Amino acid sequence: MSVCGVCRKRRQVFRLGFSPCAFCEDCFSKNLERKILRNLRRSGLLKKGRIEASLGTTLEQAVVFYVLKKHLGRSPKFAESKKSSYLAEPVESFSSRFISGFIEGAILKPSSKNLLWLCSAEEIKKYAELKKIPGKISNYGKIFHILSETKKKDPAIFFSIARSAEKINESIGSGREKKGKEKKSCS
Ligand SMILES: [Zn+2]
Repeated sequence: MSVCGVCRKRRQVFRLGFSPCAFCEDCFSKNLERKILRNLRRSGLLKKGRIEASLGTTLEQAVVFYVLKKHLGRSPKFAESKKSSYLAEPVESFSSRFISGFIEGAILKPSSKNLLWLCSAEEIKKYAELKKIPGKISNYGKIFHILSETKKKDPAIFFSIARSAEKINESIGSGREKKGKEKKSCS
């Protein structure tokens, strides 16, 4: 027993590899659910109509489905479907794809429809274990394995890459806007 870093209660706590914070089960679960629901609000999907949610074939899809059903299950906004109207991609997968793309000269843009933006596979596996959600996490490929080696020295590496990806895209976006404005003022 130790003190939870969030609720400060003396409870059974655990730590995740990338975070110095100790969580109790309740605070950890609430934290991940909050992140997914915040991503959902920011996605703009709720404004567009119903959220189509599929159980999917991977553990990350199953976890998002579980959280959406828990919080929106009774809402007319929620519809179980064969295909989801959102993405469920953890930070490890996005960061690995971003680096692969970068090597090839393409800059991958984070999708606003990704409800697992800045959520890690470690969090998903832990959540699934606590809620007894069955399934297997995706295989993130070759770059993921190279980055996983770096993760031993810098546990937050995947988060740093994802945040950099966001910044790079923002800077490209504003760069394009500026160009547009310049063109207008010239003509
Ligand atoms: Zn707690």
